[in-house]
Amino acid sequence: MPAPTDWQTDAPVALLKNVLRLTAPNPGVMTGPGTNSYLVGDAHTGFIAIDPGPADADHLQRLWQAACFADGRGGNIRMIVCTHSHPDHSPGAKPLQALCAQGGRREGAADGAALATAPPILGLPSAATARAASAFTPDRAVRDGEVLQLTAANAHADGHSLRVVFTPGHAANHICLLLEEDGLLFSGDHILNGSTTVIDPPDGHMGHYLHSLDVLAVQCSAMDVHYILPAHGHVIPHALAAITRLKAHRLQREAKIAAVMQTNPNGSLDQWLPLAYDDVDPRIWPVAKRSLLAHVEHIQQLQTAATESSTA
Ligand SMILES: [Zn+2]
Repeated sequence: MPAPTDWQTDAPVALLKNVLRLTAPNPGVMTGPGTNSYLVGDAHTGFIAIDPGPADADHLQRLWQAACFADGRGGNIRMIVCTHSHPDHSPGAKPLQALCAQGGRREGAADGAALATAPPILGLPSAATARAASAFTPDRAVRDGEVLQLTAANAHADGHSLRVVFTPGHAANHICLLLEEDGLLFSGDHILNGSTTVIDPPDGHMGHYLHSLDVLAVQCSAMDVHYILPAHGHVIPHALAAITRLKAHRLQREAKIAAVMQTNPNGSLDQWLPLAYDDVDPRIWPVAKRSLLAHVEHIQQLQTAATESSTA
């Protein structure tokens, strides 16, 4: 995999010959350099667009153009997949779909009929716990373990297979996607580079998040995955080691929080926060407070389970 280049939002970066990254122009505290949209595929198979990002017309136009046919025309998108429904990931899906349908019509009658079919929007519907800005209904809900297939019209060209892995935790409707031929994991927001995934209850859930990390570790070793492509930040090498490190970091934080709670059993979240996150920039504390709540709930769930099993 080539060395990462500087962030640019005006042109796609080819990470492999069949994997393009186009970063949306929405940098920020929560989005890092911006949302990474990915295109998987090639001119022969068409492309799967992963996380179109916010409804930014210029970004979506660039994404449409980057997914090109052999003759350079844009809009060769067969499916649009959202890893989850947060506002920096899924609102671009519908306008991108419309662009594909319109583009086909605009580009001439001969191919127009074939292109007029808009690519379906795939993913999981947002749960009842999602915030209003994260409401999302895909055209079709994917199944855990389902393989999204791109096949080449030309029998001599290779196809591409993206396996769906259900990974609730950051969001109740979060999925990751594993590109089987190349051993790549598209991690959405479950695993990030350069920032920490926020777990925001009740749609976010720490127990589910940690379990999903275990699921990803199993998948990565079974499918020989070496690289993780996050929705924010650079490519992460040594996938399995990165997941192990991430889980250890979370458990370390949870142990620290449990210790703070034990010392101040009647304390409030606001009293625990500066103690549990004393190593973190105070500007992050309002966001960290959501993850703190998720840890506290997880600690209490584990305590309840332990009490129940000892009295059973
Ligand atoms: Zn995000």
